[in-house]
Amino acid sequence: MDFLRPASWEEALAAKAEHPTAVPIAGGTDVMVEINFDHRRPEYLLDLNRVGDLYEWETGEDSVRLGASVPYSTIMEQLRAELPGLALASHTVASPQIRNRGGVGGNLGTASPAGDAHPALLAAGAEVEVASAARGTRMIPIDDFYTGVKRNALKPDELIRAVHVKKADGPQQYSKVGTRNAMVIAVCAFGLALHPETRTVRTGIGSAAPTPVRAKAAEEFLDAALAEGGFWDNGKIITPSVAKQFADLCAAACNPIDDVRGTASYRRHAVGVMARRTLTWTWESYRGARHTEGAA
Ligand SMILES: Cc1cc2nc3c(=O)[nH]c(=O)nc-3n(C[C@H](O)[C@H](O)[C@H](O)COP(=O)(O)OP(=O)(O)OC[C@H]3O[C@@H](n4cnc5c(N)ncnc54)[C@H](O)[C@@H]3O)c2cc1C
Repeated sequence: MDFLRPASWEEALAAKAEHPTAVPIAGGTDVMVEINFDHRRPEYLLDLNRVGDLYEWETGEDSVRLGASVPYSTIMEQLRAELPGLALASHTVASPQIRNRGGVGGNLGTASPAGDAHPALLAAGAEVEVASAARGTRMIPIDDFYTGVKRNALKPDELIRAVHVKKADGPQQYSKVGTRNAMVIAVCAFGLALHPETRTVRTGIGSAAPTPVRAKAAEEFLDAALAEGGFWDNGKIITPSVAKQFADLCAAACNPIDDVRGTASYRRHAVGVMARRTLTWTWESYRGARHTEGAA
């Protein structure tokens, strides 16, 4: 196995163009597991650890440009205000050691339906910045990124440079069901973001379908119910029947399987429960913020 060690982004793209089968390695928390278990024996490993840009982030007016290798621990510590959903999701990843090494670029590279970043990225609204030496940069909307079980929209000569995530304009939540509280891959997970500026909600479901998915029918139902009842303006408590219908539609958006971590019916049920709970939590925060603003 040859080890390619580019010192810059340009060198990394050139190496990937020359060796399209080379496997990029960032934190290595997925790649090394596969190599150690002999599930993968690549001819070339493309080490991205010397590419400094990948560890940087920039906060713009509307979004954060998050370098592909920014570790989860940094997201939790530095970007909690801008990206609360992703920070909460980062908190649930594995252990401090893994959170210091692993990042969102690697989660996207693996594209496991159980990856914790995905529901938060779907709910917040994100675009993945990818590039190749031959064709330059392109942006892939997060909704188009996941193409199958552990498959993504990257071409063989492309690398992920950054993820552009919309800054929170309202409360966000992330909920995960596992067999214990830490060091656990999700049985299923749910991300929810309220977007008061556009008066919309967005969801993300993990580990309950072949790819991470949004519950679009549930989002449309809730958008309409909140608009019809004037909820964004009057800040009333969401009625139990609306919350239940939202939860049922989220459960219906799942297409889960039975596996060692849980049954399909349990996953569907748990997604409904998480949808209802995260809606209650985020809506209470929204009401609280309105109350505080009103009092000021
Ligand atoms: C003990 C343990 C517990 C874990 N628990 C969790 C958990 O709770 N939740 C969770 O979501 N994950 C978990 N993981 C998986 C892993 O930590 C995450 O998926 C992490 O985000 C991977 O990031 P990384 O930088 O280590 O990726 P790497 O292992 O370096 O790479 C992962 C994949 O992405 C590709 N890749 C990396 N960077 C790029 C790039 N810039 N461009 C293109 N492709 C790229 C690699 O080629 C590879 O296919 C766990 C892993 C371990 C070992």
